[in-house]
Amino acid sequence: MRVHVTYTGGTIGMVDSPHGLVPGADLEGWLADLVDGTELGHGITLTALDPLIDSSNATPESWQAIIDGLRRHHAEDPEQAFVVLHGTDTMAYTSAALSYALTDLGAPVVITGSQLPLGFVGSDAAPNVTGALRAATSGRVDGVSLFFGHRVLAGNRATKTSSWAFKGFDSPNVAPLAMTGAPWQWSPRPEPGCGWADAEPYRRHDVVVIDLAPGITTARLRAMLTPLPDAVVLRAFGVGNVPSEEPGLTGLIEEVIGAGVAVVVASQCHEAEVLLGHYEAGDAIARAGAIGSRDMTLEATYAKVQFLLSQGLRGKELSAQMGRSIAGELTESRG
Ligand code: ASP
Repeated sequence: MRVHVTYTGGTIGMVDSPHGLVPGADLEGWLADLVDGTELGHGITLTALDPLIDSSNATPESWQAIIDGLRRHHAEDPEQAFVVLHGTDTMAYTSAALSYALTDLGAPVVITGSQLPLGFVGSDAAPNVTGALRAATSGRVDGVSLFFGHRVLAGNRATKTSSWAFKGFDSPNVAPLAMTGAPWQWSPRPEPGCGWADAEPYRRHDVVVIDLAPGITTARLRAMLTPLPDAVVLRAFGVGNVPSEEPGLTGLIEEVIGAGVAVVVASQCHEAEVLLGHYEAGDAIARAGAIGSRDMTLEATYAKVQFLLSQGLRGKELSAQMGRSIAGELTESRG
């Protein structure tokens, strides 16, 4: 089995400098040592994204650069699996973004990184990379997944939960795909979603993510929505409730939707299933055409909005697609 590894940047390949961590580790040599003498000893190739980025600088264009590279390498060798080394900060956004754009790739992609650089004693780099390589060659993962802290998570179900713990990521609304051990414990394969053939490349669109907080005024919300963005992700309370007694607030959301801008309502809860209309506080915006993000993570929701905008969808058409599972990012049978 062959695996192509793409290094995109992030802590894993960084070294100490007087100005903090910077890229510079000998990743190629380290990787060769890691798999030396194993069944993957001669099966690994490595390329790096140019330029390497701290993942907090990632944009939809960076997602597309990774996708283009994976497609290029897949065309050269359709039998190989893929591992992507990435910074942890926005890894869950990238893994969700890749999952929508690569439903037709036909090869597993496993993304990973680490909390500590590979050259530090006690680093989580080696277990994460060997785990990702093992998952990618297991024949048991499809599409895009994320390996971190001894677990394989669906790439579009994961969220970063700790800035320091080696567990690092969680998949709050579905079980992990696998947990390492002897032997690994695998969950049943999840539903794949309906797929998306011939996806147009990601382009950066103006998507605003707004967190509501108790006491937010209509004037403040209007200011945040001016000029009108291409789409709105509104992080509301609980199952998708907004402060409906704040004068003009519901009307403002109706106005935005009326102007052809999709409003996707997500939840601030870590574990969430957005059910607009369950309470009066979410019902008015549902009637106006706001769409709930169901059990999608924020990362999966945001990347999906960017994906659908990149496919040329706007307003109602975009909202209609938000409720369909493209790559297993939401549970369709619920609510
Ligand atoms: N800032 C780093 C990044 O996301 C953090 C990490 O890799 O853990 O690129």
